[in-house]
Amino acid sequence: MSQFNPADKIQDLQYFGEFGGVNPSISDSSTYTFLSAKTMFDTFEGNAEGCYLYSRHSSPSNLYLGQALAAMEGTEAANVAASGMGAITPVIMQLCGAGDHVVSSRTIYGGTYAFLKNFAPKFNIQTTFVDITKLDVVEAAITPNTKVLYCETVSNPLLEVADIESLAKIAKKHNLKLVVDNTFSPLSVAPGKLGADVIIHSLTKFINGSSDTVGGVVCGTQQFIDDLRNVNDGASMLLGPTMDSLRAASILKNLRTLHIRIKQHSFNANYLAEKFEKDGLKVVYPGLESHPSNKIYSSMINKEYGFGGMMTIDVGSLEKANALMELMQERNLGYLAVSLGFYKTLFSAPGTSTSSEIPMEEQIEMGLTDGLIRLSIGLDNDIERTYQMMKQCMQELNIL
Ligand SMILES: *Cc1c(COP(=O)(O)O)cnc(C)c1O
Repeated sequence: MSQFNPADKIQDLQYFGEFGGVNPSISDSSTYTFLSAKTMFDTFEGNAEGCYLYSRHSSPSNLYLGQALAAMEGTEAANVAASGMGAITPVIMQLCGAGDHVVSSRTIYGGTYAFLKNFAPKFNIQTTFVDITKLDVVEAAITPNTKVLYCETVSNPLLEVADIESLAKIAKKHNLKLVVDNTFSPLSVAPGKLGADVIIHSLTKFINGSSDTVGGVVCGTQQFIDDLRNVNDGASMLLGPTMDSLRAASILKNLRTLHIRIKQHSFNANYLAEKFEKDGLKVVYPGLESHPSNKIYSSMINKEYGFGGMMTIDVGSLEKANALMELMQERNLGYLAVSLGFYKTLFSAPGTSTSSEIPMEEQIEMGLTDGLIRLSIGLDNDIERTYQMMKQCMQELNIL
């Protein structure tokens, strides 16, 4: 009973709107008035708790959403952003300066990979990419200039699992910040409880769950969130990836049903993964015993929320992958689209889409094969029906 349950933390929050509404009022303002000029000065200096100044800095609607997400991750505070990348890039820029170094998992979101590999070097921030599952390799990559250890709880698209507890020990030993992108595993894993310093989400995916907006969040200590928002040198304040208040209010409403959705995504993905593996298909799903990190992941997750909604299958060639995705879309089994966490199943071939930023030789080295299809399994009510229909598609294309 004592286990940290993030859904309960969200449920326990209580906010009323200005007129007693059951939802908090939306702050439809970019700027805020002050009754005294002195208070405005103090707010600029960061000394006026509870006062709003300007909505790039903070707004009531963004703070409500941030508080709910901080409660979910069990951190002191959080700062929402206009996109996942709008959360990730300020964190790196805040923690690193010219001459600093990052050790990062090599199997991360394509945009993050491109930022670290191609963009951060313009500011003389260098990154060494490693196989995050090999702790000795991770530690060996650390230099005296390393400031950040970066990974995804469950990596995109290969579903490698980062042993966050062990990585946190390494980070602590070398005085680094462990930054974890938890986009694939909200509720299932609470990286902060396992020792991560900063937890990031793309809200675009499971958390919002409606594929109607992009959004992001950084969760961490009050001090770090204040640093990001600092008017003089805060990366989130100065780079300006601010979420709009109306959108923050809408994401907060979707967040409240996240626990129900995650359970269904996990149940459905687990069902399909087990069935297709038995049928002889090459399936990667962290809930399968055949997954190299199945044991460690089982020990990390809050079992109630399962192993998540993401799985990959390898159908042998890009040609077959493309044909299968087109046929599944034709039969309305899902959409051929990037992104994840929607009510419909979404599928894409990562090598030619979301991971195309990664050079071909590196894709091969990390096991990102041509025939790989990444699936974000939807909320299908009758998953056996879905299984039968998907299997039919595979049989017609001689995949099964
Ligand atoms: C989508 C995604 C991002 C980027 O988020 P945006 O909202 O698209 O900016 C970062 N990390 C992971 C794991 C993602 O799936």
